[in-house]
Amino acid sequence: MTTLASPPSRSGPAPTLEREELLRYGRHLLLPEVAIDGQRKLKAARVLIVGAGGLGSPAALYLAAAGVGTLGLVDFDIVEITNLQRQLLHGTRDVGRLKLDSARDRLHDANPNVKLELHATRLTSANALTIIREYDLVLDGTDNFATRYLVNDACVLLGKPNVYGSIFRFDGQASVFAAVDGPCYRCIYPEPPPPGLVPSCAEGGVLGVLPGLVGTLQATEAIKLILGIGTPLIGRLLLVNTLDAQFRSVKVRRNPLCPACGTRELRELADYEQFCAGSGGEAAGLDAVPQIEPRELAIRRASGEAIQVIDVREPHEWEIGRIDGARLIPLHRLGGVIQELDANAAIAVYCKGGTRSALAVRDLQNAGFRRVWSVSGGILRWSREVDASVPEY
Ligand SMILES: [Zn+2]
Repeated sequence: MTTLASPPSRSGPAPTLEREELLRYGRHLLLPEVAIDGQRKLKAARVLIVGAGGLGSPAALYLAAAGVGTLGLVDFDIVEITNLQRQLLHGTRDVGRLKLDSARDRLHDANPNVKLELHATRLTSANALTIIREYDLVLDGTDNFATRYLVNDACVLLGKPNVYGSIFRFDGQASVFAAVDGPCYRCIYPEPPPPGLVPSCAEGGVLGVLPGLVGTLQATEAIKLILGIGTPLIGRLLLVNTLDAQFRSVKVRRNPLCPACGTRELRELADYEQFCAGSGGEAAGLDAVPQIEPRELAIRRASGEAIQVIDVREPHEWEIGRIDGARLIPLHRLGGVIQELDANAAIAVYCKGGTRSALAVRDLQNAGFRRVWSVSGGILRWSREVDASVPEY
């Protein structure tokens, strides 16, 4: 069983419960796994939620309702009408207000016993350690790579569990990173994506209910960690697909070469905003990379043509599904093995959607390879057009 590294009761014994609280939390008190002791642990706990948006809304509402004693919220945004399709902390009359203001009103109504600490700022390398240090665990409700890496790195440096969630279109992910005995976000994605590969920084579409699902999963994990019950999502990445109504989890291991929690070479925080400034593959000059259509690749291989297939995704993506006969070389490892590859061979490179593979093809071309293509649309398009047994994710 994994519990918090630093018990919530940092200032003496856990607080007692008032009569109103005994009534309010009655359905918790009936659960032997929670009961009075657990409810006091919740009251003593300090949870920081980064982002009062799609994921932060359900997470904050449920954690407040559950009786988490102190909730910190970091956000600097204004409520816009386009937020209301999924960000349930805010209502129509809140449009134009600071999200923190509407969050405070809504959460105070949900449970006036909860102490709110509002941080009306963007989380940066300058303030992340100072803010996060004051909490027992962090719930990452951010929607961009820059803050996601910042939260992860700060949590690793401070030894605080990072309850992670992310959403895109119809798909979500959740995990618990930076726990004492588990991997961190960088164990899976060691470096921020190169400039020009920033799909999550741009506003993509998202099914409104999806952050409700994922943010609620994050709140569940946070409560389990505080109470020390159940099996937390440590070492597992939970994948949620709403269209197929599928929940699957893949194992993720601590990577001994991880710059954050493995080699520990990462000793201070950096800001990654520059990675969100590009405007997609075009800006990185990737539109000139030779492409091959998934169907064409399948037909040419089926007809006996010797085309090597290289998968430049990460191992956990490979576990989800792959093209038969492919070889896994994650993009960040390609430079180290490029000398071992046959520069005269025909090579098709694929990733999830076609951007990492385009970067790999450009690297291969620079190394003298002439017959190399990026599989257009990546394994997602392969799944749709060639092999439906490969799950989308
Ligand atoms: Zn790590």
